[in-house]
Amino acid sequence: MLPLIRPDLSELSAYHVDAVAETEGITLDKLDANEVALDLPDWLKVKLGAIAQSQIAANRYPDGEYSHLKQLLADYVGYGVTPEQISLGNGSDELIRSLLIVSCLNRGSILVAEPTFSMYGILAKSLSIPVVKVPRSTLDFSIDLEAASQALKEHQIAAVFFVHPNSPTGNLMTEPELAWARSLPENVLVVIDEAYFEFSQVSVIAELAQHPNWVILRTFSKAFRLAAYRVGYAIAQADLILALEKIRLPYNLPIISYLAAELAISHREELLANIPEIRSERDRLYSELQNLGIQVWRSDANFLYARTKDDTALMNALKTQGTLIRQTGSGLRLTIGTPDQNQRMLERIKLQLITDN
Ligand SMILES: *Cc1c(COP(=O)(O)O)cnc(C)c1O
Repeated sequence: MLPLIRPDLSELSAYHVDAVAETEGITLDKLDANEVALDLPDWLKVKLGAIAQSQIAANRYPDGEYSHLKQLLADYVGYGVTPEQISLGNGSDELIRSLLIVSCLNRGSILVAEPTFSMYGILAKSLSIPVVKVPRSTLDFSIDLEAASQALKEHQIAAVFFVHPNSPTGNLMTEPELAWARSLPENVLVVIDEAYFEFSQVSVIAELAQHPNWVILRTFSKAFRLAAYRVGYAIAQADLILALEKIRLPYNLPIISYLAAELAISHREELLANIPEIRSERDRLYSELQNLGIQVWRSDANFLYARTKDDTALMNALKTQGTLIRQTGSGLRLTIGTPDQNQRMLERIKLQLITDN
């Protein structure tokens, strides 16, 4: 590595996902990134294009306050949340990095319970912020709170990251975990990532007013079908949001992403209409996989987590037949797609089990 580069970056590699090309005759079922399987409806794309064409001067910097979208989001989030309590990011990934800069840089470590979303650790390391890991129960993936409390005593913990429901394991925070989060001192940032809120319909938002050290993250990348546009938002008390705004890059959200998010939130009834189907497909698939003797866990999100005799072999066998799933956290994460895609995945898993025996 060049001598001018921070030595600790040598441990990191650039974020990269293997692109699998669609081969002729095979449709690829992309069930590896927890996206919703349906693209935006055409009428909405047309509308987005028309607005961009008629209302946006491309040569001008946009309104960098993003006030209208924040107002729409405040209305959507409810519970008396105001636009001053919302910050927008280029994906929630950007907000995770901003939170690390605001709270942890030169101040302390982050605490995560594995397996969990890998981005917290990756982004912390990119800022030389130490990562303290505690385990989860292998039965239900609840956090080892004794280990977590111990870690809090032994390390200078500046922030704790929860996912609600967790990825890749799909479980909601338990009552003891919530109680622990409530008990954390106010100099510890508590991040509760609700990327899958629209699927779980469970949120800690009602408690936000009591906790100046809590921040809730949400995203347009999952239920709202806007992963390509990169829009996430943070909800917290106004003081914390003000700190995020101080370190935000000017115009961090491209105008087309801003417009797409405005349209998506305004047309949420149409966009979120397929969520009941995703949830019932998820539960159907859970039962089917369990009937096959596969170790699989109940989920509150749009994916299932499973562990098999040979996860790598199963993932590769599915890939050859056109179903992409994700191997992560010592297991397999299966995104719920359309009923057809789910059925194909199930048939392909059955086929592989027969081949194995
Ligand atoms: C998908 C996901 C996100 C979304 O990230 P974006 O940068 O908004 O696309 C955030 N947190 C978790 C836990 C996720 O699974």
